[in-house]
Amino acid sequence: MQSRIRAGTETPDKILFTPGPLSTAMSTKEAMLRDLGSRDSAFLDIVQQIRTKLLDIAGVSQSGGFEAILMQGSGTFGVESVISSVLPRHGRLLVAINGAYGRRIAHIARVLDISVAELQVAENRPISSADVEAAIRKHPEADCVAVVHCETTTGLVNPVTDIGKVVAAKGKMFVVDAMSSFGVLPLDLEAAGVDYLITSANKCFEGVPGFAVIIARTTALQEAEGRARSVCLDIHSQWQGLESSGQFRFTPPTHAILAFERTLASFEEEGGVPGRRARYEANRERLLRGMTRLGFRTYLEPGHQSCIITTFMYPSHPRFSFESFYNLLNDRGFVIYPGKLTHSDCFRIGTVGQVFPQDVENLLVAIAQTLEEMGVDMEDC
Ligand SMILES: *Cc1c(COP(=O)(O)O)cnc(C)c1O
Repeated sequence: MQSRIRAGTETPDKILFTPGPLSTAMSTKEAMLRDLGSRDSAFLDIVQQIRTKLLDIAGVSQSGGFEAILMQGSGTFGVESVISSVLPRHGRLLVAINGAYGRRIAHIARVLDISVAELQVAENRPISSADVEAAIRKHPEADCVAVVHCETTTGLVNPVTDIGKVVAAKGKMFVVDAMSSFGVLPLDLEAAGVDYLITSANKCFEGVPGFAVIIARTTALQEAEGRARSVCLDIHSQWQGLESSGQFRFTPPTHAILAFERTLASFEEEGGVPGRRARYEANRERLLRGMTRLGFRTYLEPGHQSCIITTFMYPSHPRFSFESFYNLLNDRGFVIYPGKLTHSDCFRIGTVGQVFPQDVENLLVAIAQTLEEMGVDMEDC
């Protein structure tokens, strides 16, 4: 684990137990101390290498019919880029929803005036392939089905491969928001019939925010030509730009890309997908054990829970207020995340980013101290 103290400062950065932005390595931050022109051949080489490595990590290749495209903006810009670019003019979208990020996809479609049908499933259970099959039967006109892999609202994982098989059998396009899972939770794109997968530089790859990553099936991308409803977010044109000149169409996030090159090297040094997952699993395991010992209850059943983020219920104690809990932890150098559920009072603790089991242990000590300071005796809950 590297130092969290920057040269010229005395206090370390707070540790972010959030799903993004998240804590990044000093080496990742240091990689940004460079100005590179957007047409500099060194920069273009880095972009090309990153695109190839992303395909490797996804277990696909250019010759095997997939493309990796980088799109400026946060992760949601990547989702909006796909939704706005790939549906035919009067195309229809079916979104399977069991959390806030699924709802966001439907919202994006509605704003774009794309006809959207929603399959709503309870936030505490995975969407099954049977749910999706029934929804397609009800909405046979849908051209495309979208689903979230790890619903970061709760940390729940949806069975994307099973769902994808149903979607492919019905001949629909398949879009997966794998923002918080890609690089950690394995997903076989071919087996799942994924046409577009979206992730971000600033989730499990532990890069700095600045761009989204789209892994796309080449045949699907080719069909997307001329379908864009936005100039900036046009995925086909972005791909054409990267392929023809190696360049972004508009100013690229050069520093974020330099940071990403460095963080991808660390990802490989850590052992790629299984290596990173092992650390996140160790973080989550410590967190769950410690929080259970303190008397907290999780929102999800353990079997549905991923190692990305865990949702805990508010303790039912009159002196507990999330606001004070959050602020007191923040004062101690630990940043947690509020809940985002429709029907339950909860908060979330992420176990991704440059966070290690020892950091989790330190967080648990801070949580125990904070509860004591607030006068919340968990025995009384
Ligand atoms: C983080 C996240 C997003 C949005 O990413 P931003 O970078 O905040 O735009 C979308 N979907 C999922 C599942 C996420 O976890």
